[in-house]
Amino acid sequence: MRKRVIIFIIILFIIICSIMIFNDMKKIKINNEEKNIVDNNKSVELYEEKKVVLDKTNIQNNTNTEISKPKKEINDWRLILVNSENKIPDDYNINLVNIDDEKQVDERIVAELFQMLQDIKSAGIDDVWVQSAYRSTEYQEEVYNNRIERFIKDGLSPEEAEIMTSKVINKPGTSEHNLGLCIDLNYVNYDFENSEAFNWLKINAEKYGFILRYPKEKEEITKISYEPWHWRYVGAEHAKKMNELNMCLEEYIEYLSTNY
Ligand SMILES: [Zn+2]
Repeated sequence: MRKRVIIFIIILFIIICSIMIFNDMKKIKINNEEKNIVDNNKSVELYEEKKVVLDKTNIQNNTNTEISKPKKEINDWRLILVNSENKIPDDYNINLVNIDDEKQVDERIVAELFQMLQDIKSAGIDDVWVQSAYRSTEYQEEVYNNRIERFIKDGLSPEEAEIMTSKVINKPGTSEHNLGLCIDLNYVNYDFENSEAFNWLKINAEKYGFILRYPKEKEEITKISYEPWHWRYVGAEHAKKMNELNMCLEEYIEYLSTNY
């Protein structure tokens, strides 16, 4: 009887041990499965991270592509840029039309110019007139050389006189007045800034396609001192857009040639 009890206990022990071992194995299996899931998730995470990095690289590459995108040529006669770095083309052809006995402008701007001058007057502002409009390159040369002479008479050396002149007058062929697309108003002096006409133009000139070509805050870019009297035709759509973007002509052309 005692022997049977011992055998029963041994068998029971074996059964209990087997159950425990089986349970442990099950646990290990579950753990392993969980680990796999975690590892897989981690791989997904790593993959995502890598993808994001790759995507970012792509974006950067795209940006680089944009920067190196060639500039678009602007073929719009209204936006022709003439300044110290851009001389008027030798073959530039203008059809001039008289606006009074002496002065002329490009015939393509005359209707809007007259309308603008008429509407200023209709607004009750009478003291406004065109002082200067188209100037031939030859005339510009004469004006330029006369100014040099005057500086020399005032005691400057020829070199100094040339430098001073280039600051106040555009070299022949580098003035917008050679294009026939701009006008100078009234006495061509800074008093114009305080006139009713100037205030009216600041608000309304864009409707007729005219812009204040040399604003005070753009002197660094235009390389021309602020000129409240000088108004340039660019067409109504461009004038409105330039005012909206607060850009001078140099900036606007750059903007159009790179944002397309
Ligand atoms: Zn001018």
